Amino acid sequence: APSFDVERVRADFPILGEMINGQPLVYLDNAATTQKPNAVIDAIANYYRHDNANVHRGVHTLSDRATRHFEDAREKTAGFLNSPSSRQIIWTRGTTEAVNLVAHSWGADNLKAGDRILVSWLEHHSDIVPWQLAAARVGAEVVPIPVTEEAEIDMDAFDALLDERVKLVAVNHVSNAIGTINPIENICARAHAAGALVLVDGAQAVGHWDVDVQALGCDFYCFSAHKLFAPTGMGVLWGREALLEAMTPFLGGGEMIETVSFAGTTFNGLPFKFEAGTPNIAGAVGLGAAIDYLSLIDRDAAAGHEDALLTATLEAASEIPGVRRIGAPKRSAGIFSFVMDGCHPSDVGMLLDEQGIAVRTGHHCAQPLMSRFELPGTVRASFSMYNTLDDVDRLIAGLKKAQSLFGPR
Ligand code: PMP
Repeated sequence: APSFDVERVRADFPILGEMINGQPLVYLDNAATTQKPNAVIDAIANYYRHDNANVHRGVHTLSDRATRHFEDAREKTAGFLNSPSSRQIIWTRGTTEAVNLVAHSWGADNLKAGDRILVSWLEHHSDIVPWQLAAARVGAEVVPIPVTEEAEIDMDAFDALLDERVKLVAVNHVSNAIGTINPIENICARAHAAGALVLVDGAQAVGHWDVDVQALGCDFYCFSAHKLFAPTGMGVLWGREALLEAMTPFLGGGEMIETVSFAGTTFNGLPFKFEAGTPNIAGAVGLGAAIDYLSLIDRDAAAGHEDALLTATLEAASEIPGVRRIGAPKRSAGIFSFVMDGCHPSDVGMLLDEQGIAVRTGHHCAQPLMSRFELPGTVRASFSMYNTLDDVDRLIAGLKKAQSLFGPR
């Protein structure tokens, strides 16, 4: 097995030293947002201390410096995704805005009454609602792709849905509620054979491994920097260049134009055509720093470490009576989503918090998926590379305590 020095990684994340309710923090809410290493915190502080100015405008030195940092981050992000060009990296506020951009701009030019968009039952609301809005504008239809009892996409049902009405398929790379890793290459091949495009919501994938958009074969890929050890309010839309070139702008304003007149306005080239207004410069700097930081880490070994934590958790939890895992995907990325007999998910979450353990409870912005499993919500423990077997032990002890208070007797 590859070696992974978790203590060395932990030392880079100052927040992991916090005491919560008298106990050392056990942070198992990484699917909601990841913590930030010193490299990212320092890069943002240094940017504001030494380089802050507006980008792409000034003739002065600071503006040049800010622009260089901002555009360097775009190059790094292109490398991180294996994008053919940095022109295909569009900055957004996050996954949500990236999906909305495509649903709005691509949808406006390419969807008509009777067309279909397929979205899986595993999707986060941010990969459902933008499509519903776009479909409603033109009389198109959003059709869900069924998932199995294991919480995997039902590929036979998917095939059966693929016909000439389908214009786009929107799926997540990793489900935030269950952890399922979806077979994106396979989904893209089938969708393309049927003449449909594929948008991948990669919010939950980037925290676990480096993504190769060319190998995946997708048409659009979206992610949020805050799930990649970088700041909130920052995200990425990657798209095939020809598709982005053909799309009309999403938001209008400064930066995205070439010339403006009341007779008519012409637009800037990629990627700026989609970046109206002063951007989140420090967010880009933070994202670039996170990608640099991760380049020093053996991410395969980190993913192996996360798998080992999940396996240990599943084994230990299976021995606690009344604890039931939701879904059983064959390939899963660091998420244990479960319910406990006799104990509401939010009560489990509160009891764990009293013991210094942070988890998420509720519907995880995936209400259709919860309804598929006839649940109001689950408790979700989600791992990152800096979690330890000690964290697993603390979680299991916390669950046993919750079970002794509330569980079946
Ligand atoms: N999709 C998935 C799978 C997610 O986990 C999340 C974040 N919980 C989102 C989309 C939305 O990301 P953001 O809120 O950062 O835009």
